[in-house]
Amino acid sequence: MSTIELQNLTKSFGDLTAVNNVSLKVDENEVLCLLGPSGCGKTTTLRMVAGLEIATSGNILIDNKNVNELETRDRNLAMAFQFYALYPSLTVGENLANPLYAENLSEKEIKEKIFEIADILQLREIINRKPHQLAEGEKQRVAVGRAIIRDPQCFLFDEPLSRLDVQLREQMRGQIKEVLSDLNKATVIVTHDQLEALTMATKIAVMRDGLIEQISSPHDIFAKPENTFVAGFIGTPQMNIADCNISNINSSVLEISLLNQIIEIDFGKALDINKNENYFFGVRPRSFDLAETATNQSLSGEVDLIENMGSEVLLHVNSNDASFRTVQSRSHKIKVGDKIHLKPKKSQVHLFNSDGKVVAHG
Ligand code: ATP
Repeated sequence: MSTIELQNLTKSFGDLTAVNNVSLKVDENEVLCLLGPSGCGKTTTLRMVAGLEIATSGNILIDNKNVNELETRDRNLAMAFQFYALYPSLTVGENLANPLYAENLSEKEIKEKIFEIADILQLREIINRKPHQLAEGEKQRVAVGRAIIRDPQCFLFDEPLSRLDVQLREQMRGQIKEVLSDLNKATVIVTHDQLEALTMATKIAVMRDGLIEQISSPHDIFAKPENTFVAGFIGTPQMNIADCNISNINSSVLEISLLNQIIEIDFGKALDINKNENYFFGVRPRSFDLAETATNQSLSGEVDLIENMGSEVLLHVNSNDASFRTVQSRSHKIKVGDKIHLKPKKSQVHLFNSDGKVVAHG
């Protein structure tokens, strides 16, 4: 069994609460990504799990055992805080072997482990090279190998791919995900890169100002954001979020007034909604279909800017001096000045209350 559990974990630096009452559980087999903007407390959380930072309050459990008082070396974790911290004078094989020297293994056992890891990470051919003879992706794989070779209980990675170029990142995301899914360990990865989190995680915890805003599967974080912060933070281009109010309620169908237009949305179930309150309406730029004409289920506006995105275009649409954005295929040949009508796709709109908390996805 390999699990990590945080119970009401808090860390203060003087007046600053860097991590505020964080509770979460990572099961064996799970890869949890801590995702959030710079300074939200991701690294501090990871460092507390590693025992490199003492918690102000709360508990850290590894395999259901409280490790608050244990030193880093006694927590049996593998950490990769800096993927490139390889020993420059040692070969790939020697770098891989390094964490094993404290384990009291025979030379034969060490050799077997090196080759096992080298096979998993495709390092056999470069086993005798030194770091300066390696490409960036190879160095990365050696560093991952060094983290996993000891067969620890759990893995902790801090911004594992941040130093790689885009192409290599894409490649490594897949490779690391594959390796981790074979190892059946609880893993925590810190990243501010949402693509990294969405592709590598089985579960994402979005943090802001030391607090966890939402913990969900990558799909739900994207499709069912629980508040406007998560809705706006996840997904590019960013979700359109506009003030709105409800002008009429007819069972599950709401008549929503936004951008000085009225649009009808069927949420599929009756909602606890108050006509006199303000709400926020959210819809992602990719969640609109082009409509031929204006209807009571579409929003209309004039295109005032077009950004090229390869086979797609990002259209900035002006409606009564407010703007929203949509991504459409370049094949529609839309031009600046065109009046367009956009119908939100079914089950891809979000309604939030005035505190930013979700009321409904529909
Ligand atoms: P980044 O992605 O930029 O690394 P992060 O989400 O990992 O950000 P942390 O590094 O955990 O954020 O920092 C959280 C907050 O705690 C920040 O405001 C940071 O300045 C502060 N902080 C972190 N370590 C210390 C420290 N040793 N002393 C004082 N303040 C600290």
